[in-house]
Amino acid sequence: MPIYEYHCDDCGHDFEKLVRFSDPVINSPDCPGCHSENTHKRISAVAVFSASQNQSVSSCSSSGPFR
Ligand SMILES: [Zn+2]
Repeated sequence: MPIYEYHCDDCGHDFEKLVRFSDPVINSPDCPGCHSENTHKRISAVAVFSASQNQSVSSCSSSGPFR
């Protein structure tokens, strides 16, 4: 699952959120610190995360459609 990073404009809190592939991309989830909806998505670590995930998938399973 991709991880998105968000920043709260009200309290300045940075937080991450796991998003399922079936979920729509959420641009302004509630801040876990102050529960404000005044948040925005940051540039995330999705690329790094999916790259390491692909490595583990290809090393432990030959049935993945990654070609
Ligand atoms: Zn906040």
